[in-house]
Amino acid sequence: MSYIYRMDHQLKIYNSLSRGKELFVPLKPPFVGMYSCGPTVYNEVHLGNLRTFTTFDIVFRYLTHIGYKVRYVRNITDAGHLTDDSGEGVDRISDRAKLEQLEPMEVVQKYTNSFHEVCQIFNILPPSIEPTATGHIVEQIEMVKRILKNGYAYESKGSIYFDVRKYMEKYKYGELSGRNVDDQQEGTRELDGQEEKKNAADFAIWKSVAPNHLQHWVSPWGEGIPGWHLECSAMSAKYLGQQFDIHGGGMDLKFPHHECEIAQSVGADGIEPVRYWMHGNMLTVNGDKMSKSKGNSFLPRELFEGTHPLLEKAYAPMAVRFFMLQSHYRSTLDFSNGALQGSEKGFARLMNAYKVLQEMVFVNDESKKIAAEINEVSQLCKEVYEKMDDDFNTAEAIAVLFEMGKKINSYKEGLISVSTLDEKTFELLRTTFTAFIKDILGVDKEEGGDNNVTEGLMNLILELRKDVRAKKDFASSDKIRDELLKLGIQVKDGKEGVSWSVN
Ligand code: AMP
Ligand code: ZN
Repeated sequence: MSYIYRMDHQLKIYNSLSRGKELFVPLKPPFVGMYSCGPTVYNEVHLGNLRTFTTFDIVFRYLTHIGYKVRYVRNITDAGHLTDDSGEGVDRISDRAKLEQLEPMEVVQKYTNSFHEVCQIFNILPPSIEPTATGHIVEQIEMVKRILKNGYAYESKGSIYFDVRKYMEKYKYGELSGRNVDDQQEGTRELDGQEEKKNAADFAIWKSVAPNHLQHWVSPWGEGIPGWHLECSAMSAKYLGQQFDIHGGGMDLKFPHHECEIAQSVGADGIEPVRYWMHGNMLTVNGDKMSKSKGNSFLPRELFEGTHPLLEKAYAPMAVRFFMLQSHYRSTLDFSNGALQGSEKGFARLMNAYKVLQEMVFVNDESKKIAAEINEVSQLCKEVYEKMDDDFNTAEAIAVLFEMGKKINSYKEGLISVSTLDEKTFELLRTTFTAFIKDILGVDKEEGGDNNVTEGLMNLILELRKDVRAKKDFASSDKIRDELLKLGIQVKDGKEGVSWSVN
C-alpha cells in the first residue's frame, strides 16, 4: 500500500536569499520546478560532492512523496568550467583531455558514466532532465545576445564580460552571498583575461579561445566557449521558465556561481530567476572542507573497499548515505571513522526494525489494545513528517524513526505479531516507516544487486555451516562467520536459530 499524503503540509524551506525559513508556496502547484548544479565531468566525484547531490535527492524525493509533480533539472557541466588556482584559468575538461590523451567528449563520457554509476550505488535518483552545457550552446549564445542588447555586457577581444557596475546602477548585486563588489577581486574562477575587463568583478559570459583550444564553438564574437555560470542560467530558463521554485547547490557555489546566475538572468530577462535558494553545507575532514586539491578527499569506491589511508575499514554505501542523512543539510558534517561506525550500528538497528515490520501481522484482540500506545504511535507518525516539513530535517526525522523502531521491536509477540494497536494505527505505522526507509530517505537498497540471489546464497552458506557444526567442526564454522563479517555480514546464533544482517 503506498502512502498518499495530503498536500497541505506546512513545508518550510530555509531560503539563503532571505536568510530565514519561509513557507514553501510553489508558483504553479501541484508543479514544482527545481534546479541543482551538477558535476563538472573532468574527474570522479568525491564524497563531499555526493553529500550535496544526496541533499537535493532528498528534496526531490520528499516533494514528490508529498504529492508535488516535480521537474528536477540537474545539469552536467561538460564545457566552460575554468580553474582559478593560479593567475591563469585553465579549461578543466580540455586540460584533462590533453593529460589523458582523449577527446574532450571522451573525458566527458567517461566521468559522466562514472557519476551515474556512483549515483546508482548511493540510491540517488536520476533527475527529470539532465542537460549538458555542450548541448545548449545555442541557448547560451542567445542569452549573451539578450544581455548585450540590454547593455549589461561588453565585448573585449572576442570575449563578452558581464558589466557588474552597469548592472548595479539598476539592480542589487551580491545579495545572495552578502559580498561587497569591492572585495570581489579574488574568488572569481575566471582570472584569465583579467586585463580585458573593465572591473575586477566583471565575469566572462563568453570566452574567446585560441584556435588550437580543444573545445570551441562559433559565435557572433568569434570562436570561444561559454562562461561557466551561463549554462545554469540558460538551461534553467529553458526547462523551468524565467522564474522557478527551487535552486540548489553546495554552499561554496553561492559566490561567484549563483550570484552570477542571478545577475545573468535578471540582465537578460529582467526577472529574478529563483524563489527559494537552497545551499547544502560542506562535508569536512578534521574540520577542513573535503576537496580534491587538499588531498583529503576519497572516492566512493575507496570507501566501499576501505582502501584510502584515512579509512579504518570498508563501509557499505547505504550506511554512508544514512550517515550523511543523520545530520541536517545546513550543518557541516565532519567525517571520521568513529562517527561512521556509530551510524553503521544505528542503521543496522533501524533496518532490523524495518525487517521485523515487513513480516509483522496484526492480530485483532480488543482485550490487548492499549489506548496510550495507539496515541503515541499516531503522534510519532505525525511528528516524523513535521521534522521533514521543517526544512527537510532528516537528522530529527531519523531520531523519530528510532523511536518508532523501538516500538516495533517492543510489539513483537510470539513469532511476530502485534495486538496492542488497532489495525488502522498499525497500518499507519507500517506505511509511514516504510515510506521513510524506501521513498524519502532511500536507504533500503540491497548491496550487491539481486535480493533473491543474496538471500539464496546466504541460506546456502548458513546451511553448510549448520552441517559443519553438526560434525563439531567449529573451526570451519567460525571461519565462515568471520569471513562473512569481513564482508560486512553479521551472523547471529540465537535461541531461535541463526540469523544474519548486513552491517
Ligand atoms: P563541482 O563539480 O566542483 O562543481 O562540485 C559539485 C557539487 O559538489 C557542488 O554543488 C559543490 O558545491 C559540491 N561540493 C564540493 N565539495 C563539497 C564538500 N566538501 N561537501 C559538500 N559539497 C561539496
Ligand atoms: Zn550551476
